[in-house]
Amino acid sequence: MTDIRLIRGRWVFTGDETLTDGAIAIQNDTILAVGAWDTLQAQYPQAKTLGSEQFAVMPGLVNAHHHSNGVPNSLQGVEDDFLELWLLANLGARGQDTRLKTLLSIAQLLQSGVTSVVDVARISGSPAACFDDLNARLQAYEQAGMRVALNPGANYQSYLVHEEDQAFLSALPSGLRQQLTELVPLTQPLAQADYLSLMTDLVKAYQAHFHINVWFGPPGPQWVGDELLVQMADAAERLGTQMQTHALESLPEKLIGPRFYGKSVVAHLKDLGVLSPRFSMAHGVWLTEADIEILAETGAAVSHNPSSNLRLRSGIAPLSAMLAGGVTVGLGMDGNTLGDDEDMFAEMRLAARLHRTPELGSPTPSYEDIFAIATTGGARLMGQAQRIGKLAPGYQADVVLVKCDRITWPWVAPDINPLHLMLMRAKAMDVDTVLVGGRVVLRSGQPTGFDLEAIGQETAAQLDAQPSRESYRALVAELKPYLADWYSRWEMPPLTPYAAFNSRT
Ligand SMILES: [Zn+2]
Repeated sequence: MTDIRLIRGRWVFTGDETLTDGAIAIQNDTILAVGAWDTLQAQYPQAKTLGSEQFAVMPGLVNAHHHSNGVPNSLQGVEDDFLELWLLANLGARGQDTRLKTLLSIAQLLQSGVTSVVDVARISGSPAACFDDLNARLQAYEQAGMRVALNPGANYQSYLVHEEDQAFLSALPSGLRQQLTELVPLTQPLAQADYLSLMTDLVKAYQAHFHINVWFGPPGPQWVGDELLVQMADAAERLGTQMQTHALESLPEKLIGPRFYGKSVVAHLKDLGVLSPRFSMAHGVWLTEADIEILAETGAAVSHNPSSNLRLRSGIAPLSAMLAGGVTVGLGMDGNTLGDDEDMFAEMRLAARLHRTPELGSPTPSYEDIFAIATTGGARLMGQAQRIGKLAPGYQADVVLVKCDRITWPWVAPDINPLHLMLMRAKAMDVDTVLVGGRVVLRSGQPTGFDLEAIGQETAAQLDAQPSRESYRALVAELKPYLADWYSRWEMPPLTPYAAFNSRT
């Protein structure tokens, strides 16, 4: 019995209820019991205790869509823009060592109470180079002890403008065309067969791993093509793993449905047979009511990424309609939050406010709904609903201790709703201790698996040593009006200012 530990809190948010002066008992990696502090203390008098009445205790948060950017765009001089322009603008960022940038991102996530993440990795190059890149990421998660579904994918088409690359290039002035083709090669060195075999090996290698899974990660339907997408879905089914793609993020990504498939993107994915509970899409800003029905029917899930959708002028996803329609929804930060700080509490706060539309009587998500999508919703999206996302017996001991002193200072009414208080006021800076599978991975706000300060210094030295990429940024700036002009020729549905955020027809 000596390996049993208790975690005590002024409030314990289990996911089903809030306990005042509660506790959980954990043994090794698993939660044994949840209850009143007095009861559990009497039951396990020898158990070591973490936490106290100074803390709130909650299940680890699930970030359902993420990119390990390390040093973020804002520090690299890359400004926010429309998705399509911003993707090119990112070429103006200096390259970072894969292991270092993954560790930097892991630290930020743990520091905001995230214990599980779907980490999307864009790979390119020879099979050996891609393997090394992915291996560095997997080693970082191993070292940090964080739970991850690594989601690698490569682009195979639509490098510049969705399926119209050649026509777009031909329309550019020749000097600009030449510079652009040097910067963005229109071929992928990693053959599709090599991608599939590399992924199959990795999925198998991590199948029984305690906190790491590998998924198939098509970056977007328009970036991989139908044939490969179907092959990935088949392989995911055969290997018992999942897949996640970007879809319906920007307005052009809505328009490619009628333009290239003759139907909505989701109807097209359904016809391909790739939608299932193993499938999730990031964003889904432009889902229609009919799309939402298809997702609910097939069990396919959505990661809602409100900050990123605002930063990249994508719009506001129909969260209330998705929840009312019975779609599995998780909350994701996309490595692209409003404050560029990966603060999951800020993201929950944004999601809780963004969908309160002005019409009286319209459904609006409650704090309970938002807490659920950031925990159990994400767990379901990850195919781990019986294992993570709640504090309940038999679940993994993924637990976050949040300091209450700043949140409750200088006074708090005795009859407040503690969950509402936490979601209204807590920030990443209040997270003190984080456990993943019973192992303490963050203590006093610092990762236990690596020296964050040293990783930061090493990163800064590596970035300093690289030449400026100002010329790339100048090229993208020159290209911008041509891209904007190209998209302006696409047939656009009528959008009123409000419907532009909520058009579901
Ligand atoms: Zn993304």
